[in-house]
Formats: sequence, structure tokens, C-alpha cells
Amino acid sequence: MRKITKGIAPVSFMEWVRQKPRNVDDNQWFQELYKQKRWDIVSDLSHHNAREQFYLCAYCCSEISGEGQETVNEHVEARALASHRSLDFTNIVASCKTKGQCDAHHKSQALPLTPLMDECETEFHFKISGRVEGKSARAIESIRVLNLGDNERNNKSLIEKRKQLSHNLMMANGLDPDEGLEDDELLLAVIDDLLTPTEGRLSPFAPVVANILRSWISG
Ligand SMILES: [Zn+2]
Repeated sequence: MRKITKGIAPVSFMEWVRQKPRNVDDNQWFQELYKQKRWDIVSDLSHHNAREQFYLCAYCCSEISGEGQETVNEHVEARALASHRSLDFTNIVASCKTKGQCDAHHKSQALPLTPLMDECETEFHFKISGRVEGKSARAIESIRVLNLGDNERNNKSLIEKRKQLSHNLMMANGLDPDEGLEDDELLLAVIDDLLTPTEGRLSPFAPVVANILRSWISG
């Protein structure tokens, strides 16, 4: 995961929130967006979030476009658990719509380690194999809740995709995934490069590769 810093909500969404009738709760009013087919606002929200996340899924770091076909407005604290945060822009991120993981697997479960927390960059350990491991109880739980691929039995396709794309990204940066690298200075430079957006975008799984490379740094 990559830490997401929330900015200001899109104007159309703020306007919608302001129009909420007194007798309707926040969760109902969020659902009204979809019932009333306000795709203009739904789309503003997902594009705005995707841009804020440099076009990476908040959870798995695969590529998202912000388009409704494959990007969903996802509540980090689920609406069923925190109805009062349903219209809180700082609780809404862009997730991919991949079956069996991320938003689709989160549903209404509590998520103890989130992309809104600094520790989301340090408490997960990504491996060359494509697997991810939790370094804390809350990281392990979040991997389970989002089905982020701790082993092939749970999410083989994500593990394979992550392995393939991370390897490609390493090769593109002159690193051999199987060899490792002992030059800390060079590793830091590559990490910095990976985490610097180009034209508002990060490469898919760049935060994953940065995480792997950090574990190569000796000291
Ligand atoms: Zn995802």
C-alpha cells in the first residue's frame, strides 16, 4: 500500500452533501447518488480519488483509470460500521473492482490497517515471489480482509500479477530481482524514482517494489 493524503473533495460532491435533507442519514444520502443515477457526481468522485492516488488502487496498487467500469468509490471505514462517515471525503478512496479482493472482499468488515495510515508502508512485507506478509497483527488482518495475496490458495492471480509486474519494473530500473543489490545509495535513488509520479501517475505496483527494495537496504 501507499499512504494516501486526502485533499479537498470535488465541488459537485460537496454540493451534494450540502443538499442532504435533514431526515435522511449520511449512508442513505450516499446511496441516493446511485439510486438517482447521479453518475456525474459519482464519476467526479472516482476520477478525483484516482488522480489523488496517482492512478493506483488504494489497496492492491494495480492500475485504475477512475472510470466507473473498473474503479469504485470505496469507504475505508465501511458504511455499515460508520454510517456517519459515509459522506466524509477523507473516508473515501478509489479501489479496483477486481473480484475476490480489495473493495469486493472488504465488504463491511473492519479494516485495522488502512492506506490512510503511515504504517501501511512499513507493516506489510512484499516478497519477490509476489506474496505479501503482515508484520503486525493488524497488517495480517487487513491482508485477510482485502484478500491481498498472502498465499496462492487465497489469491493466486494477484500474486502472479504482482510478481510479474514488480519483476518488470525492477528490470526497467536495471535491477535483477533474483540477484538483489548491495549498493544502498543506488537503491535509495531507485526507490525515490519509483515513488515520484510522472505526469501525475505512478507505475502499477511501484509502492510494492519500493517496499521490496527497502528490505534490501542493509543499514
Ligand atoms: Zn485493488
